[in-house]
Amino acid sequence: MAVIGGGNAALCAALAARESGASVTVFECAPHEYRGGNSRHTRNMRCMHEAPTDVLTGSYTEEEFFADILRVTEGETNEELARMVIRESPNSVAWAKSQGVRFQPSLGGTLHLGRTNAFFLGGGKALMNTYYERAAERSVNILYDTEVVALDIRGGRFESGRVMCKNGKPQEFRAKSLVIASGGFEANLEWLEEAWGEAARNFIVRGTPYNRGTVLKMLLGAGAASIGDPTQCHAVAIDGRAPKFDGGIVTRLDCVPLGIVVNRSAERFYDEGEELWPKRYAIWGRLVAKQPGQIAYSIIDAKVLGRFMPSVFPPIKADTIEQLAAALELSPTKLSETVDAFNRSVTPGTFNHQLLDDCRTSNELKPPKTHWAQKIDTPPFMGYPLRPGITFTYLGVRVNQKAQVQFPEGFSPNIFAAGEIMAGNILGKGYPAGTGMTIGAVFGRIAGKEAASVR
Ligand SMILES: Cc1cc2nc3c(=O)[nH]c(=O)nc-3n(C[C@H](O)[C@H](O)[C@H](O)COP(=O)(O)OP(=O)(O)OC[C@H]3O[C@@H](n4cnc5c(N)ncnc54)[C@H](O)[C@@H]3O)c2cc1C
Repeated sequence: MAVIGGGNAALCAALAARESGASVTVFECAPHEYRGGNSRHTRNMRCMHEAPTDVLTGSYTEEEFFADILRVTEGETNEELARMVIRESPNSVAWAKSQGVRFQPSLGGTLHLGRTNAFFLGGGKALMNTYYERAAERSVNILYDTEVVALDIRGGRFESGRVMCKNGKPQEFRAKSLVIASGGFEANLEWLEEAWGEAARNFIVRGTPYNRGTVLKMLLGAGAASIGDPTQCHAVAIDGRAPKFDGGIVTRLDCVPLGIVVNRSAERFYDEGEELWPKRYAIWGRLVAKQPGQIAYSIIDAKVLGRFMPSVFPPIKADTIEQLAAALELSPTKLSETVDAFNRSVTPGTFNHQLLDDCRTSNELKPPKTHWAQKIDTPPFMGYPLRPGITFTYLGVRVNQKAQVQFPEGFSPNIFAAGEIMAGNILGKGYPAGTGMTIGAVFGRIAGKEAASVR
């Protein structure tokens, strides 16, 4: 059988298929050193448990997990598939351990996920290296630098495919069955432009440049049923100085709720203190994407240093707001006016960044800041440029419990999908942190097992 992709879902499928006795070839379009897709950037997976485990605190029941999915998706989920993923999540962690993956309790400051999410020791990179080691030991044939460029699908059945090899030559391949685990299309800025217009050109892709959605397009072109909103993506506000691709999690900035955020006209545009940071973390990518030039600036003062995760790039610092504005290429007069108006509207309260405190601005300020509003008055003043950082897209293909892809003729007898490319069946919109890897692990193993049984 053949597997397209080289991330978590693909390797889970390949290893599970080998366990079932199939001979397996994996096509990974990235070179060896960039193998592992977005999975190598991850830190954890969400996992149901009835009682504390070696790495998870308290309990996280099926009902609570499902309630979290229902809440973020606002009901856009396939309950049967969602519950299957939830029930299988502890088995997936156990299976990962059996492959040599090591987990660790979450550290403080890691988005408060210690109860719900199992953290990989060494992060996603260590997870992927372990899976690749197991794959090599078990004679899984891994072809790097090998992009699948065409699929011959007739009546929902995979017949053959074509890859572009490292040497630049195309080559046909055949297999009894195919697992497609090639991720989303978040690295394809031209495709994103269809929904976002020219703004997409200023987006930063947090993960691999290799997830261009080429295989997703082939599947949809061959009649596969789509799922998930084609115009939506998960995006967060990241450091505007991050590289265009592959910056990963370290370019995240957690200081937004502790100061104000202005656009390039030095004007505020949204309540920075609306919710605790992890809960509203994902709206800021979208908010910045809608600002002129897709750029914004987080402005803080010395009082809040040490209250957020240190940034990978140092903040831009100045002794006065005017100097800071000049360093950020903003209008010094306008930024001073904005900060002064904000400072004048701050009402007395007891600051506590761990909960929704009572530090807010008065009603005159539009938009208000409803929590953690403190005057920006203590030098040095600091600023960070913010850009929308795309994590993943939502459009995918429809599958059933066996991970078979749906075509007009019915569910395919030999095409299976796992991971981001089918995550929309469970997450029609929204995202509870850590579910991407859980969906990939559960559906990867199912897809591998089912594909191995095709005769
Ligand atoms: C910075 C960052 C942090 C994240 N943190 C977490 C986290 O902590 N927990 C969590 O659950 N989720 C997290 N996510 C989301 C998570 O990365 C995805 O849900 C998950 O990795 C999807 O796994 P996958 O195997 O489907 O895709 P990927 O791991 O992205 O793998 C897709 C693979 O397909 C290959 N490919 C693409 N097209 C072709 C082609 N035509 N031919 C051959 N190969 C092809 C790519 O090279 C890649 O190897 C994070 C994402 C990012 C960007």
